[in-house]
Amino acid sequence: MDAKTALKYAEDHGARFVSLRFTDLVGAWHHLTFPIHELSESSFEDGFGFDASSLRGWASIHESDMLLVPDPSRFWMDPFAEEPTVCFIANVVDPITKEGYGLDPRSVAARAESYLRFTGIADTAYFGPEAEFFVFDSVRFYNEQNAAGYEVESDEGIWNSGRGSNGFESPNLGYRIRNKEGYVPVPPADSLSDLRSEIALTLESVGIQVECHHHEVATAGQCEIDFRFSTLLGTADNLQLFKYIVRNTAYRYGKAVTFMPKPIYGDNGSGMHCHQSLWKNEKPLFAGDGYAGLSDLARYYIGGLLKHAPAIVAFAAPTTNSYKRLVPGFEAPVNLAYSARNRSAAVRIPMFSQNPKQKRIEFRPPDPSCNPYLAFSAMLMAGLDGIQNRIDPGEPLDKDIYDLSPEELKDVPSLPGSLDDALSALEADHSFLLKGDVFTPQLIERWISYKREREVQPLRMRPHPLEFALYFDV
Ligand code: GLU
Ligand code: MG
Ligand code: MG
Repeated sequence: MDAKTALKYAEDHGARFVSLRFTDLVGAWHHLTFPIHELSESSFEDGFGFDASSLRGWASIHESDMLLVPDPSRFWMDPFAEEPTVCFIANVVDPITKEGYGLDPRSVAARAESYLRFTGIADTAYFGPEAEFFVFDSVRFYNEQNAAGYEVESDEGIWNSGRGSNGFESPNLGYRIRNKEGYVPVPPADSLSDLRSEIALTLESVGIQVECHHHEVATAGQCEIDFRFSTLLGTADNLQLFKYIVRNTAYRYGKAVTFMPKPIYGDNGSGMHCHQSLWKNEKPLFAGDGYAGLSDLARYYIGGLLKHAPAIVAFAAPTTNSYKRLVPGFEAPVNLAYSARNRSAAVRIPMFSQNPKQKRIEFRPPDPSCNPYLAFSAMLMAGLDGIQNRIDPGEPLDKDIYDLSPEELKDVPSLPGSLDDALSALEADHSFLLKGDVFTPQLIERWISYKREREVQPLRMRPHPLEFALYFDV
């Protein structure tokens, strides 16, 4: 779609403002808003100036001027703005060179797609993420309602949404979900079904097609809403819009959503399994007559993913909290193996359908705290490296890995045990990411130093509540 179509859409929908959305290095969405009269056909080339130095991980103060250039191929009306507001996703462009800013994650994803076509291996990579999340009640909403004179029976303020509260009443503990038994109960145990339906309708209103929504395994209001796969860049854009809609709809229900991977000790965490496949000339390249109906090309893709997984997770499971999820016993992977149907392996080959068009692999280590542009690009580059170097993933592991003895697991590599270890793996193994200038050395260096200085070290230096329980009286 072009600038003219976008402008006509804005006019037809009575837009009074335009909001430009972009993603910072760590993956948070930001926006600048302009009155609609500031938007014209030339805006889609000239962009709008902004200060990139005030965003996490980005430009230093002496090179802070950047442009936000809206991409006319994707637009929607903001479902939450009081005044009609048309939204675009914008690329961050250097005003001097007019090239994409090297630390703009969206430019990495665009280059990953170009590199894929350049290799001739395939022309399209499809990604389908399953971003799980928790819904909690918001204290603020509760207090506001309280102040506004609603009758409130308890002033506990906060409790888990999975326990039947709607923000106006005390929690209904009669329909409490048992530990790790939250998978798909009907209401009233699942008290979030209406909220998810409203989220689903809002997603569809902005062009994101929903496939299914359900309560997830964790007790405390864990949910999943699956939307239809798309291209790498398109899916990364969709995921940012998805999170925005999930959070804002929940906010209107007086709830707070978190995509952090392991908010609750002892219960399942939130993963973001990524289904992926390569296509060329509209033909699926992953279907074949090998193990689990895979082609050799798909096997090599898996080989690349498994080989580079310790480095990939520095982007795909990029928080200190991610490694509290990647432990045995909670349906999250720990070992680098692949298998059909097996949910304890890092790569699962879904067997729901034997249609070649649906043949895909599911990479399970990622979680929804990742920056999707960087995580998807890293996975694609690892898979392509596997194909280019014919990396054999070895034999599948069709057993419950959590039940295997250390002896049986001695030859199966594991994921890194901490963010720090993942960053070290990325330091040691990133040449596959630099091919085709997809990731820049500057981005990889900045990523590692940002994550170490701002996340790993501050956490390491802080006394932890558990340490008080363990050591206060030593
Ligand atoms: N919540 C699990 C995880 O952390 C996944 C559950 C599922 O298979 O959907 O990966
Ligand atoms: Mg799930
Ligand atoms: Mg899954």
